[in-house]
Amino acid sequence: MDFYEGNIFRPPSEANSLILQVTIGCTHNKCSFCNMYRDKKYRERDWKEIETLITIAASQQHPEVVEKIFLADGDALAMSQNKLLALLKVLFETFPKLKRVGVYAGPKSLLNKSDQQLHNLFDAGLKIIYLGLETGHSPTMKFINKGCTVEEMLEAGKKVKRAGIKLSVMVIGGIGGKSFSFEHAKASAVVVNQMKPEYLAVLTLRFNPGTPLYMQIEKGLFKSLKSMELVQELKWFLEDLDLSNTIFRTNHASNYLVLGGTLNKDKEKIIATINKVLNENETSFLRAENSRGF
Ligand code: SF4
Repeated sequence: MDFYEGNIFRPPSEANSLILQVTIGCTHNKCSFCNMYRDKKYRERDWKEIETLITIAASQQHPEVVEKIFLADGDALAMSQNKLLALLKVLFETFPKLKRVGVYAGPKSLLNKSDQQLHNLFDAGLKIIYLGLETGHSPTMKFINKGCTVEEMLEAGKKVKRAGIKLSVMVIGGIGGKSFSFEHAKASAVVVNQMKPEYLAVLTLRFNPGTPLYMQIEKGLFKSLKSMELVQELKWFLEDLDLSNTIFRTNHASNYLVLGGTLNKDKEKIIATINKVLNENETSFLRAENSRGF
């Protein structure tokens, strides 16, 4: 058994975490822009494999140094409740300094759990869930084949909060293309305001060969944004955010403009930086055009 199967993805804030791949792939695996798990068919590792993973991990590094664990791949919350609870129990027994466990969760997996089940997972040590909202704009959500409605996504985010689990939300800059850039920004702000996440990250759309979106671009069905248009879109989004203590970041490798702060406290400062870029054509703030594909 390989400790890791295929490429492993994790959020930037899990850089120092032990990554345990208790599931393989993504339950949905059909978002038109995403190629993270296209080569994998979703499956859960069986309990024996999971025990082996934990034994290997504990033998490779001193269990005392592990404070954070991230459960890969793209939707580990899809595991059955009993298995997740048993897993969390073993992890906290094996790693005595463990403080938190985190997962990516698909909206449908969240909706499939009751509030009580999510509460129980929180009590067992699941302390942070990363949710890819991508957009709050319904036509765009449908276009990218996210597999849920905006209303379902909103309810999924609210469930995380009701359980006391920290919510980290990702929005994708440029996902509405030129046609819906403004609408995507404004509608996403409406949804994020209602979700009230503890963490909010804006990534930038990348164009991955072999994805349905890539083919749509080749056929002229989707017009992508240039760097300055992405900055303008980010401003439209930020202007409408109304949050009380959300840590905001645009530090993903895909982003042109790296910003950060706490919202709303730092909102004016962040928008002032954006205005400098837009009004004075101040390109020194921008990373070089990166490898987005188009
Ligand atoms: S749910 Fe996430 S991991 Fe799965 S296909 Fe969509 S973007 Fe990719």
